Amino acid sequence: MTTFSLPLNLYIPSALLDRRESVLIDGRWHAGHGAASILSVDPSTSETFASFIPASVEQVAEASEAAARAFDDWRRTSGRERSGFLRAIAKGLKERKSHLVALQVLNNGKPRYEAEIDVDDASATFEYYAGLAEHLDAQQGQPVELAEGALTGATHFEPIGPVGLIVAWNFPMVTTAWKLAPALAAGCTAVLKPSEFTTLAELVYGDLAAQVGLPAGVLNIVPGGGDVGAALCADKRIRKISFTGSNATGGRVMTAAAQRVVPVSLELGGKSPIIVLGDADISQAVEIAAAGIFFNCGQMCSATSRLLVADTIADDFTEALVAKANQLLVAGHDNPNAEMGPLTTAEQYRKVKAVLERARVDGLDCVAGGNPARDRQGFFVEPSIYRNVPTDHPMWREEIFGPVLAIRSFSSTDEAVALANDTDFGLAASVVGTDGEAAAAVARRLDAGHVWVNTSQMIFPNTAWGGFKASGIGRELGPWGLAAYRGIKHITRAA
Ligand code: NAD
Repeated sequence: MTTFSLPLNLYIPSALLDRRESVLIDGRWHAGHGAASILSVDPSTSETFASFIPASVEQVAEASEAAARAFDDWRRTSGRERSGFLRAIAKGLKERKSHLVALQVLNNGKPRYEAEIDVDDASATFEYYAGLAEHLDAQQGQPVELAEGALTGATHFEPIGPVGLIVAWNFPMVTTAWKLAPALAAGCTAVLKPSEFTTLAELVYGDLAAQVGLPAGVLNIVPGGGDVGAALCADKRIRKISFTGSNATGGRVMTAAAQRVVPVSLELGGKSPIIVLGDADISQAVEIAAAGIFFNCGQMCSATSRLLVADTIADDFTEALVAKANQLLVAGHDNPNAEMGPLTTAEQYRKVKAVLERARVDGLDCVAGGNPARDRQGFFVEPSIYRNVPTDHPMWREEIFGPVLAIRSFSSTDEAVALANDTDFGLAASVVGTDGEAAAAVARRLDAGHVWVNTSQMIFPNTAWGGFKASGIGRELGPWGLAAYRGIKHITRAA
């Protein structure tokens, strides 16, 4: 039993916190057999509020075996049947919204309105793939005309097999929904490995599987750290790995998949640009820039962390953005009006503090923030902005995953596009300008998987998500997210 006292303004049923049985295998919860306890930490206070024992490597094998056994029947269900399960999960997420919001406020440090968006997004993703699943049956066996008249051809789609889903901690439930909903819709069974930092909210998917009557073994959950993820990648029953996380781990996942020659989807990091054109409305540009770097305390793969502003408006814009950053209410769950919370993990706090310290040592021009927030026990840092950051400085080139914005100015659109595309990553970008057509023309020149014009961070279930270059392999969401879990089978008949 936890001895932690929940903050008075957060109600979470104790069953969601006391997870002595945290491993879901073949429709049954089991106590983890892993080595060391995993702690769930409240980043607003740095207090531990729950702990559980992770899965052991042997339990990963059992979960993979259960997913493989369940696959034979699940793959034969109709798209319409699977659609019914997905809709029920979407409904279940809505019904549990208040608990899930509270859990994410507590475990991730998200302001309440951000946690609400997350749960709504997860539910909408299940609803969307329920819609796609309904149409799958009619897509089977489409005829293909062949050059040889005596032969007929038809295309069929097969679920790719039991899949391993490995996710990060910054948007628990959402990034999982982006994988789990299309995987189930396609007819795949799954073994889910949540992040060790934000496991508790993800376990609710296991509760929902039972609630909606998902057949045993269709969803299995193995909480744990890198050893659990690595065991999942290596398990020969798992026919595909879909991974969201850092580039370093993504490389390991890809290496493990290469050894067995199974496909991977990788959703990795970014260093996304935002271009503020000379005709931009400054107050609108400030709102978009702030949302792009301070939402979720900057812990977004798609954070627009490199800002390029036309030199004609650079001073006025920067002054207004600095004012906005300085006014942001940075607070934990003790303040319902918080606009930016703490970083989610102690490790991330350490990393971002090191970035701020390096900036100080290197003499970067800090115009807002630049410090850990004082007088706080949690993992708080100030919204931070640096001007004229050299293009070869790590702050310009490397993902920080915190509320730290690097600014440079440009004198021509060509220069802005060249600077924006000069990165190893290619996940997202924003362009801001009053002439929407001109801004959209710039958007088309950017090497990024998702570009926003005069808005930021808006992601819908039917729009593609994923990056070019080092930001990953494949696309999630939309029909592309479903295709990632389907194999194509062609049947050629002579009679
Ligand atoms: P991480 O790479 O440290 O961990 C991600 C997951 O991989 C965790 O579940 C972790 O336990 C697991 N893992 C660790 N070692 C493993 C191994 N050897 N084999 C298999 N799994 C292993 O990343 P993180 O710190 O949790 O997340 C932050 C990163 O995720 C950032 O780089 C961010 O940009 C990226 N991200 C990308 C997207 C996207 O859609 N592109 C979305 C969210 C986060």
